[in-house]
Amino acid sequence: MYQSKAYSAASKTSPLTATTIPRRDLTERDVQIEIQFCGVCHSDLHAVRDEWNEFMPTVYPIVPGHEIVGHVTNVGSAVTKYKRGDLVGVGCMVDSDLTCNACKADLEQFCPNGVLTYNAPDKHLGGVTYGGYAESIVVDEHFVLRVPANLNLAAAAPLLCAGITTYSPLRRWGVTKGKKAGIIGLGGLGHMGVKIAHALGAHVVVFTTSPDKKEDAMRLGADEVVVSRNTAEMEKHTDSFDFILDTVSAKHDINSYLKLLTHDGNLTLVGAPPEPFEVAAFSLITGRHILSGSVIGGIRETQEMLDFCAEHNLTADVEVIPIQKVNEAYDRMAKSDVKYRFSIDMASLEAG
Ligand code: NAP
Ligand code: ZN
Repeated sequence: MYQSKAYSAASKTSPLTATTIPRRDLTERDVQIEIQFCGVCHSDLHAVRDEWNEFMPTVYPIVPGHEIVGHVTNVGSAVTKYKRGDLVGVGCMVDSDLTCNACKADLEQFCPNGVLTYNAPDKHLGGVTYGGYAESIVVDEHFVLRVPANLNLAAAAPLLCAGITTYSPLRRWGVTKGKKAGIIGLGGLGHMGVKIAHALGAHVVVFTTSPDKKEDAMRLGADEVVVSRNTAEMEKHTDSFDFILDTVSAKHDINSYLKLLTHDGNLTLVGAPPEPFEVAAFSLITGRHILSGSVIGGIRETQEMLDFCAEHNLTADVEVIPIQKVNEAYDRMAKSDVKYRFSIDMASLEAG
């Protein structure tokens, strides 16, 4: 065991502050990574403030962060995929049993014995896992991704969660040239969804509550932008979407979006507000609409997404911050004031 500098929150009302955390000594399968950047996901905020208490209560202290990129500093004796100096990433998962049906199907995110990067029981050290707002991390090589060298590192970090979370359902539901795809919410996930759907060749429509994001949405790859509070603008799109991706982090009316699907169209939820939605039967039965959900993606698909992003030169639009600004970043994220992902420069941990 060794100590690593990190930022943690002591309770749901405490700010994140400097601390040191234990990391395990390398097992033969482990990769040790010096973290250079870590993206700030809205899930970090939900977890730090214990907003998901009903589903996954937060254990304090919590060290969030699951959009991790950095360099390999050491590898265990049985590691074959990585060597010292490699550019790598870690997303939301750090372990799974690799033997269940989900794992065998490359869907580790559904493994009953999966371990999340933070706030999950840590079978090596006891307590819970600590995430990427830290100097370093030790992870089983299966859960380490290769980050293509042509991508800017600070801007590539968000691909490890926001990238895969949007890529996976866009691919699964066949978003491609000739399809009309909607993205609800232009935040971290949403702006990656726009870029990826555009790169897949779809006609992309952004739904936003923030009229001032209109120009950015078009620059990011949208073909049209709808201010969702404008009912007339919404109704123009009735019965027209093949697919809509809902990335909104707070409770909202999904019936007004289900109505916009064409017959057999799909609306997939990736946003994770803690409160339940109300769904009118008529929003689904009329048009045989499908309402579904999706959570990140498997390791193989995450690597595929990184390679796709490298090929299309896609990364997040990031505002790089020192870790000392993370609490301010959370307050801004809570107000939908992120353009469009915060990426923490971990070199700033030196300053305490
Ligand atoms: P984010 O950067 O804060 O973006 C969320 C966006 O939703 C905001 O920018 C805003 O966009 C819109 N929004 C916020 N409050 C709203 C409200 N009350 N009504 C309507 N729209 C609202 O968050 P994120 O990091 O993209 O994460 C989004 C959600 O996805 C979170 O709940 C997060 O926990 C979840 N998530 C899920 C997965 C998964 O695997 N399923 C993975 C990562 C994150 P506009 O300003 O454009 O309206
Ligand atoms: Zn995330």
